[in-house]
Amino acid sequence: MELHGQNLIGNDVSADGQDTFHARNPSTDEPLHPAVTEATNAEIDRALEKAEDAFRIYRQKEAHQIAAFLERIGDEIVALGDALVERAGAETGLPAARITGERGRTVGQLKLFAGLLRDGSWVEARIDTALPDREPVPKPDLRCMLIPRGPVAVFGASNFPLAFSVAGGDTASALAAGCSVVVKAHPAHPGTSELVGRAVIDAANACDMPPGVFSMVHGTSNRVGEQLVKHTLTQAVGFTGSLGGGLALFRLATSRPQPIPVYAEMGSTNPVFILPGAMAERGEAIAEGLTGSVTLGVGQFCTNPGLAIVIDNGHGNAFMDKLRALFQAAPTGTMLHAGILSAYNEGVEKLAAIDGVGLSALSEAEAAAIKTQARPCLLTASGQTFIEEPGLEEEVFGPSTLVVQCDSPGNMEAVAGSLEGHLTATVHGTGEDLETYGDLVRLLERKVGRLIFNGFPTGVDVCASMHHGGPYPATLDGHFTSVGTAAIRRFARPLAYQGFPQSALPAELRDENPRAIFRLVNSKFTQDPV
Ligand code: NAP
Repeated sequence: MELHGQNLIGNDVSADGQDTFHARNPSTDEPLHPAVTEATNAEIDRALEKAEDAFRIYRQKEAHQIAAFLERIGDEIVALGDALVERAGAETGLPAARITGERGRTVGQLKLFAGLLRDGSWVEARIDTALPDREPVPKPDLRCMLIPRGPVAVFGASNFPLAFSVAGGDTASALAAGCSVVVKAHPAHPGTSELVGRAVIDAANACDMPPGVFSMVHGTSNRVGEQLVKHTLTQAVGFTGSLGGGLALFRLATSRPQPIPVYAEMGSTNPVFILPGAMAERGEAIAEGLTGSVTLGVGQFCTNPGLAIVIDNGHGNAFMDKLRALFQAAPTGTMLHAGILSAYNEGVEKLAAIDGVGLSALSEAEAAAIKTQARPCLLTASGQTFIEEPGLEEEVFGPSTLVVQCDSPGNMEAVAGSLEGHLTATVHGTGEDLETYGDLVRLLERKVGRLIFNGFPTGVDVCASMHHGGPYPATLDGHFTSVGTAAIRRFARPLAYQGFPQSALPAELRDENPRAIFRLVNSKFTQDPV
């Protein structure tokens, strides 16, 4: 398929603007063709007007029709074949095996949401039947369920060109909720975005979905994203990226005449606590697992463990020796784009320059600038230094980690207490450690969205019980997840119907329960009719 580099406004391709840019291959630093045209404000307006028109039709579609649409998007993505894998590899520097795996995850996500829609219980139907004889006032018939919010703006993420981009988790969950979507393609992989965007539009046409249910605009300037968020027709925003970007969009969204929610997943350092029993029992094995998790995908995961907290009681010597050796021997790797590499290098330099921080190990492999390669890096600091230097907790996006060496269990707890919000925290321990450090675990429960025991935070399963969201600054609202079926709740809101006749209620709320969904009826969960 020949790429055109234009914006996809419903079924139309459009390139009215004057500003163009090229993606670059981070492995060779060469520009990739074609030139991509940045969307004009008029094109963004058109995309949102079409999204609003489409929403009015799309929200009336039956669940099975939307499910078939999501599955068809997956089929169209798979049908792109090697062309998609090759283009995504050229634009991101990620190996073909990773892209292929990510494609499987993307298609799997779409199918998971299709299954959720077919089941139907996700709408959280709640019914309280009328009590006309209640004293002192009669109780009305009240029935509540989730309904779609309206057109959603989705920002493609740089680090997952498929699974968190054009047809990734945000788009899949918004479409599943019944919302139309306008995507801002990430400027680092516009060709991959175009291929997937065209696949979504082909699927929409094949499934008789209204034109404008999906649009995609390009841009390298903040103007495009700002215009999307400020547009009066946009009703919610999905974003994965930097803290600065997420906050800028949040401020715009909340200063609109009608403020809207921004579901932003931003910075997280994912602390790993290694308790003394586990350290004595298997310190070297933990060092191996930690190095693998830090360097996986050149450290470009939001769940990358950027902090390891240990108690410096002599048992950790073998762990530290092993960790140093592993980091020195770790290979360099191509990062997603030059901006991310320079942010990584600057971040490591900034940390290393802080008083009390030591550069413990640096990969000895060559890092070629032309290949956008990063060197894995290991830093150390004492527990006290960590507590006194808030900058040490900031995310350095890439293959580095800071080992925080605490002088006592109390110091370790103080380090945990000083943490801000993160997506995850990990505890390595024995059964005895867990009993001794119960307070630490209770403390961490307040800091993160996912607690991991004797594992590593990278590798985020896509399922109903996954929670990928944590207290600020990991996300703007730790109540919501951007991974797994619960992600759909971001793009829906409750609507209560009071006193409506059966014939005018949505199927999910009618007495006979025609969709046989689980509902809370007069305070009891049941699939039974009322
Ligand atoms: P980014 O700079 O936050 O950009 C993500 C998207 O948001 C892009 O489309 C960008 O468009 C837009 N955007 C950013 N700031 C904006 C603003 N002020 N106004 C309007 N639009 C804005 O993220 P990135 O390019 O993917 O990577 C940069 C850094 O983000 C990384 O070094 C890393 O620290 C962090 N990151 C974190 C995660 C995570 O999961 N935690 C994932 C990826 C990246 P423009 O091109 O117009 O700026």
